[in-house]
Amino acid sequence: MTGAPPIVTEVSRPWWEALARGEVCVQQCTACDHWIFYPRPFCPRCGARDPAWRTVDGAATLYTWSVARVPVAAAFAHLDEPILAVAELAIGIRVPTSLCDIAPQDVRIGMALAPVFDGGTYPGITLLRYRPA
Ligand SMILES: [Zn+2]
Repeated sequence: MTGAPPIVTEVSRPWWEALARGEVCVQQCTACDHWIFYPRPFCPRCGARDPAWRTVDGAATLYTWSVARVPVAAAFAHLDEPILAVAELAIGIRVPTSLCDIAPQDVRIGMALAPVFDGGTYPGITLLRYRPA
């Protein structure tokens, strides 16, 4: 299995650039204030074009999770039991991620999470991962 790195597009580039700086930036509609994730060229609620990028608090709570007993990509094969998760930020968006610094038996839905800016998995890419807060 070959691990495929995330594909950076013109629309998603600010997301990746912010993570490389240690920040979480999310799109917000300038017409209706709706928070938008994943990155898009328009607001899915009202259709307005060119949402603004805003720096937000990267802290999150755990929305859901699962243990990947078979690695989903070669880049994760060295991990003992990768914990795939969905983290919910205070602004309400839900971000697919993975957890670190925690064992599966200690994971709890709703637990507080702190962002981890992981620049070591793919060259030139910083992933947004989470650990217990
Ligand atoms: Zn909108």
